[in-house]
Amino acid sequence: MKIEHIGIAVKSLENANEIFKKVLGEEHYKTEAVELEGVSTSFFQVGDSKIELLEATNEESAIKKFIDKRGEGLHHIAFAVEDINAEIERLKNEGFEVLNDTPKPGADNKLVCFLHPKSCNYVLVELCQEIK
Ligand code: ZN
Repeated sequence: MKIEHIGIAVKSLENANEIFKKVLGEEHYKTEAVELEGVSTSFFQVGDSKIELLEATNEESAIKKFIDKRGEGLHHIAFAVEDINAEIERLKNEGFEVLNDTPKPGADNKLVCFLHPKSCNYVLVELCQEIK
């Protein structure tokens, strides 16, 4: 495993892009909407890992709910896995609660699954497998 990316919930992708551009000294390399999740995302490369900024695009979006409840900030940590279905099975057997049993398409050409924050010291963990 490696840290594939760190997800940060933001109110404005435009503002956050400017801030992270200053921090990292580089532009984001892509912007992508994930309709299913009601989010618009942008990505910055940081060595082998990435920063994913997430802005809500509708009222039902989990990002909208998160920001309403807790404000902007760190939202999730994503670990890259080789075989997401095997990892889901393994973690369920270890007693972890997964938010989706079946991997779903995420941003940046990935299949993703989230572990319930209650299972992981109140950190939302994303597993992601590159779609080849
Ligand atoms: Zn993510």
